[in-house]
Amino acid sequence: ISVLEIKDLHVDVANTDENADPINILKGVNLTVRSGETHAIMGPNGSGKSTLSYAIAGHPKYQVTSGSITLNGENVLEMTVDERARAGLFLAMQYPVEVPGVSMSNFLRTAATAVRGEAPKLRHWVKEVKEALTELDIDPSFGERSVNEGFSGGEKKRHEILQLGLLKPKIAILDETDSGLDVDALRVVSEGVNRYKDRDHGGILLITHYTRILRYIKPEYVHVFVGGRVVESGGPELADELEAGGYERFTQAAATQG
Ligand code: ADP
Ligand code: MG
Ligand code: MG
Repeated sequence: ISVLEIKDLHVDVANTDENADPINILKGVNLTVRSGETHAIMGPNGSGKSTLSYAIAGHPKYQVTSGSITLNGENVLEMTVDERARAGLFLAMQYPVEVPGVSMSNFLRTAATAVRGEAPKLRHWVKEVKEALTELDIDPSFGERSVNEGFSGGEKKRHEILQLGLLKPKIAILDETDSGLDVDALRVVSEGVNRYKDRDHGGILLITHYTRILRYIKPEYVHVFVGGRVVESGGPELADELEAGGYERFTQAAATQG
């Protein structure tokens, strides 16, 4: 069992005006995610949800000013981006770039080699990829295409979930995995996430603005995220409340708290 622990995390983002001071976005985030658990982070636009995922990913623009992130007691903040992946953290937007001339199949094998510590046997690998593609309803020719080149929004999301199934990380952070997906793609992507949870016993931090994806992926824990911190935690009923009443109650409470 793996544990991702975030304690009193404060994060600044570099100002676009280089002469101005960094802007404080995260104001004391506390969160613990274990293998086999699904946590949904739900919050309005601009509340700092993506800042949280970038900070976990180790994006250089996001400066952790205090607090800690550990995976099984190991200091994640001291790890390079690659080391975080090898330690078992999966950050969907870690690979958003286009890599012309590198096929998906080769790219994924390289990633799997890094995470597993040895290259999967080629024949075995081909079979693994084929099965994963079938499960996700992805055309077999996908493996021959260049990484992210000309991928539609939906294809990029499927690609993320394909990686999830092949790399089998310990904890996955999925930021707005539902955005831009039609209903069919949403179903397939959600099934992939659920398989990762049930079959691979993965821990999931599902970051989202909308409640729509929660019809397909059932979190045991829901956290309302406002003003750079978790303002309320609960079970699935909290998501139902958000679906009915929106974020207003929480944004007002956060405002009066100052
Ligand atoms: P969310 O994902 O919840 O919509 P973000 O983490 O993207 O929120 O953004 C939180 C706040 O931080 C917003 O006010 C946004 O404008 C600001 N912000 C995020 N990234 C940057 C950046 N690279 N430069 C300047 N401001 C940023
Ligand atoms: Mg946003
Ligand atoms: Mg965001």
